[in-house]
Amino acid sequence: MFTKLFTPKKINQCEIPNRLAVTAMVANYCNEDGTATDRYIAYHEAKAKGGWGLIITEDYAVSEHAMGYQFIAGLWNDDQIASHKKLTDTIHQYDSKIFAQIYHAGRQSASFVNGGVQPVAPSAIPCPWLRQLPRELTIPEIEQIVEDFGDCALRAKQAGFDGIEVHAGHGYLIAEFMSTYVNKRTDKYGGCLDNRLRFVKEIYADIRGKVGDDFPVMIRFSADEVVQGGRDISESRVLAKLFAEWGFDALHVSSGAYGDHNKGIVSPMYVSHAWTVDFAAEIKQIVDIPVFTVNRINDPRMADGLLEMGKADFIGMGRGSLADPELPNKAKAGDLTAIRYCIGCMQGCVGKLLVGEAITCLVNPSLGQEYQLDYSKVTKPKKVLIAGGGPGGLEAARAAAIKGHEVTLYEKGSFLGGQFKSAAYPPCKGELATYTNWITSELDQLGVTIHLNRELTKELVAAEKPDTVIVATGGTPCKPAIKGIDKALVVTAEDALLGNVATGDQIVVAGGGEVGSETAAHLAMQQRDVTIIEMLPKICSDLDGVNKFNLMKILREYEVNQLTQTKVVEILDDGVIIENSQGQQTLPADTVVIALGYRPNNQLAEALSAVHNHVIVIGGAVKTSNAMVAINDGFNAGLSL
Ligand code: SF4
Repeated sequence: MFTKLFTPKKINQCEIPNRLAVTAMVANYCNEDGTATDRYIAYHEAKAKGGWGLIITEDYAVSEHAMGYQFIAGLWNDDQIASHKKLTDTIHQYDSKIFAQIYHAGRQSASFVNGGVQPVAPSAIPCPWLRQLPRELTIPEIEQIVEDFGDCALRAKQAGFDGIEVHAGHGYLIAEFMSTYVNKRTDKYGGCLDNRLRFVKEIYADIRGKVGDDFPVMIRFSADEVVQGGRDISESRVLAKLFAEWGFDALHVSSGAYGDHNKGIVSPMYVSHAWTVDFAAEIKQIVDIPVFTVNRINDPRMADGLLEMGKADFIGMGRGSLADPELPNKAKAGDLTAIRYCIGCMQGCVGKLLVGEAITCLVNPSLGQEYQLDYSKVTKPKKVLIAGGGPGGLEAARAAAIKGHEVTLYEKGSFLGGQFKSAAYPPCKGELATYTNWITSELDQLGVTIHLNRELTKELVAAEKPDTVIVATGGTPCKPAIKGIDKALVVTAEDALLGNVATGDQIVVAGGGEVGSETAAHLAMQQRDVTIIEMLPKICSDLDGVNKFNLMKILREYEVNQLTQTKVVEILDDGVIIENSQGQQTLPADTVVIALGYRPNNQLAEALSAVHNHVIVIGGAVKTSNAMVAINDGFNAGLSL
């Protein structure tokens, strides 16, 4: 099935057993002093077990004040080496190789993660995301940072890493020096290209002098920074040639910088798969060292095809490895339906990081918990009944079945996936369906009995006599007391998305959160005239910046009318009366879509709790939440039995 994916290739003297590389993703699992925790080590070990050829770690800070996040790794003093040696020893029990990525965050940091110290940069321009004013570095400080990189690289070698990757991309300190986007200096480190590259050239020389010629040293950089005034591929071609000439052993061609809301360093689902591969391909034409490509490549067949076409030598998958650390082994075995694909949602990996928390993954609830999970089968299997076939119920069934319990799931509707099904209908969200597909196949393999179109009732529980009942009935769309809300033209967002009802040509969507705005985009793309009514000052206020930016772009492109700080007062037979600071007016409508949130659907939980002494209620049935919470709750409930 694969022609090149599972062939080895050398970087300097280091033979990488296959072409699948885990790219650096900050996990925030380390101690605050930069030492490795058991959690951090087990997280990487899962990938080595899963068959990845090369694991590139998260950024190792080269100095105490170089950190961009609070709980990332560091090798700025010798005392940190031992804990990271434990990591490399663990990985070397498997075939994988492990490189440490080393960096200085520059202005893309905040003083609260660096002991109150102001961020530094080539020039005093704040990062557009973090917005803290950095201090311009002096020449002696620049010289010290150059040495910090070399010292950090040497410690990485002493800690047993097989190589290092210098992070010169994504807008961190080296990237800031290289780009006129941030570097406005007029001394020897600014202005012309040679001056802007002086910092990275000195860093390379210092590293090479300390680690020797045989130790792999690669560099990651953004071929296109995707920001106004940032570098694009034209200058990046020149950089690539110079990096190869100086002696770097491989080039990792990425994209983006903080401040890019469009495609993002971590591309959202609105962005095409492998969208930067042509940058890597262009660079591969002009250098004779290995080239890595990356960016929303989540399918091993896509990866192999890119290798076959000669676009790159290695394929990076950051989030693909979070969603399924076993992806390489499953691909090699030809078991592609067993792969749990990254859906590009960014909720657990990027979303958590941006609020300073440890990363999670929406589709993989075991991520970051590997060090403490127990999948061993129970000696006395229980009879477990589950109400609800949404993501929470499905995950509960999977986890309970893994533990060896006898599991039966009841879904009162005609399909599995719950609200995850309709959530896959809006533009660019189709890959959500891969999760339902994957878990349905897992449940089949695990022998879980599934009843569709059948509700779990008190009577059924009394007859079946289970040991445990898990209630995962999710939420019900809110239906506020608006005059006329029961009229025939009123439909839920789910019904509109799933095509359960025919919608008209003039549509009013009441509610401008994620669900309402996505439903509006879906309908507008069917050439309907759509207006969103939102009471808050802005729509999409429950979305992160990157997803919001991309959804808003679609709403603008399809001319969706947006009325904020406006409420629906009454629904008529052919329109709605709305009210805002300008008073009341009537909008014509032949369909009104209600997207005003959810309330817990907990009647069954209450009824069953009255007749059974072990009922576990999870996800949206407890509290309005999202799929990530429901899946996590389901996983924990199933595993706890
Ligand atoms: Fe992919 Fe979403 Fe998991 Fe991140 S949280 S790795 S985007 S599935």
